[in-house]
Amino acid sequence: ASSAKEAHWNGVGITFDGNRIKVLANVGSAADATTAAANGAEGVGLFRTEFCYLSATSEPTVAEQTAAYSAVLKPFAGKPVTVRTLDAGADKPLAFLAPDPEPNPALGVRGLRVAFTRTDVLDRQLEAIAAAAAETGAQVQVMAPMVATAEEAGWFAERARAAGIQKVGVMIEVPAAALTAREIFDAVDFVSLGTNDLAQYTFAADRQVGAVAALNDPWQPALLRLIALVGKAAGEVDKPAGVCGEAAADPHLAAVLVGLGMTSLSMNAGALNRVGAGLAEVHFDQCQLAAKAALATHDPEHARLAARAALTPRR
Ligand code: PEP
Ligand code: MG
Repeated sequence: ASSAKEAHWNGVGITFDGNRIKVLANVGSAADATTAAANGAEGVGLFRTEFCYLSATSEPTVAEQTAAYSAVLKPFAGKPVTVRTLDAGADKPLAFLAPDPEPNPALGVRGLRVAFTRTDVLDRQLEAIAAAAAETGAQVQVMAPMVATAEEAGWFAERARAAGIQKVGVMIEVPAAALTAREIFDAVDFVSLGTNDLAQYTFAADRQVGAVAALNDPWQPALLRLIALVGKAAGEVDKPAGVCGEAAADPHLAAVLVGLGMTSLSMNAGALNRVGAGLAEVHFDQCQLAAKAALATHDPEHARLAARAALTPRR
């Protein structure tokens, strides 16, 4: 909920002292995209394409996919949009890509893992994404979900580039990928941290189970330390790293993420104004100090308090 004293954000992500951070939206439909554009999103940091097909019983054709993606891209003509290839499985099952029964679907054949055997489905989707990009004039880049190794990242990048997509990235939402971010960057142009799944897999705590929600708190120092590794790798290679999980929607945590080296933040449309306004109040070195302080704590509560102290507006 936004507070009454919340400043109005002008639609450009920037710290008080002029450090640019792209403030982007997470979307899953044309309606989401329209709302996000109206709320000032600079672009889309995560288009969850599987949301278009949660009730589909068969694979949509290339023409159907092109139309669906174009409708989402249209409000962002000329702006950056990161389209994620189908993240089917676990909490987002798709009937036409259902795996054989698995005891632990979150650890099974989901996300990019589905594409290894269904390369035809991936290639048709990439074709539709490229067509929708051409049709709408959005600056489209694609990324794969649930990547665990640099080899997988390279495999995906090669296929996406063969489909004519120039900027290719992967999500970092598996701890192994965070630990090998430097190698993953050798294969791709950018990465985007999915903090919802990264928390789930780091703490071995199902994101859908309320009883373990405290472990999935995005302020957990262990999660922040993994994010810091990715931020450091991004700085070394001078490539973009963003966050598109729920963590980016919390203004103080957003500042911490900037301090950890993130160059973009993507969130639900309802959070854009408060995150944009929050960043505009703090200096970049405060973000770095807040990150350092939060990293040094032992629990989410103290991480929050330490960050808040470092982020008191100076003026
Ligand atoms: C995430 O895992 O943080 C993420 C952004 O992707 P999703 O929530 O769609 O799994
Ligand atoms: Mg995820």
